[in-house]
Amino acid sequence: MEYNRKECKSVRPVVHKIMIKEQILGIGVCCLDYKDLENCIRQDIENGKKSFAVAINPEKILASRRDAGVKEILESADYPIPDGIGIVIASKIKKGNIKKRVTGIECMNMLCGLSHKMGYKIFLYGAAPQSVEGAKNTLEKMYPDIKISGFMDGYEQDNEKITAAINQSGADIVFVALGSPKQEYWICQNKERLCAKVFLGVGGSFDVLSGRVKRAPEFMQKIGLEWLYRLIKEPKRIVRQIKLLKFVGLLIADRKG
Ligand code: UDP
Repeated sequence: MEYNRKECKSVRPVVHKIMIKEQILGIGVCCLDYKDLENCIRQDIENGKKSFAVAINPEKILASRRDAGVKEILESADYPIPDGIGIVIASKIKKGNIKKRVTGIECMNMLCGLSHKMGYKIFLYGAAPQSVEGAKNTLEKMYPDIKISGFMDGYEQDNEKITAAINQSGADIVFVALGSPKQEYWICQNKERLCAKVFLGVGGSFDVLSGRVKRAPEFMQKIGLEWLYRLIKEPKRIVRQIKLLKFVGLLIADRKG
């Protein structure tokens, strides 16, 4: 059953502990759990405030050190969430407060559950045509009352067509699956001209939801080895993952310094 949006106006004010960011190699990361994020985003939508969540992992932190544009984007995010296990480890080394991963795909799940309850509209943008359509079908099975008001694959070249489709759909939340940092650049360049309120970059999540790519078994996710599973499935990711040794080196240098 769908809740009446007007009746749900009385969202409890959220203590913005989410605003306290922990610095991991110069990038602020929120110390939050899914419930905190859900409360904040619900409040943002009800207040008509735009917000942008970005999943932070070691790869993005390394990219931000090479590319000032990426750094600016990560710094501009309202909710930089601790997506990678490397971020949790980095926080542990610094005796920080980030205890668990908050992943892009689980945030998407959480926001779909919220939308199903509250009647928020969702737009899916990105991935191959079969993936985005498959993701839509899966979400509609998982959340029978969900309103997916539109979708578009990530290979459409006409940006006017993309932004017009999102605005016409009346979406409140847009999930963008173009890979990083392309999806974060796209969000930053387009969010002001879009009527939607919440933007989340979700990488390969539509591929997973559509069943075209399998996520690691739950026990691997729990012990922080999802990266190993992805490496076994896609050995060419080794190039990306070898770079992560640099992240470890920087953490050690940071600790000594
Ligand atoms: N993608 C896209 N348009 C592009 C490039 C990539 O829609 O121009 C999609 C691609 O089909 C895939 C996703 O972006 O579904 C990237 O997935 P990946 O797992 O590589 O994401 P990341 O590891 O960067 O989060």
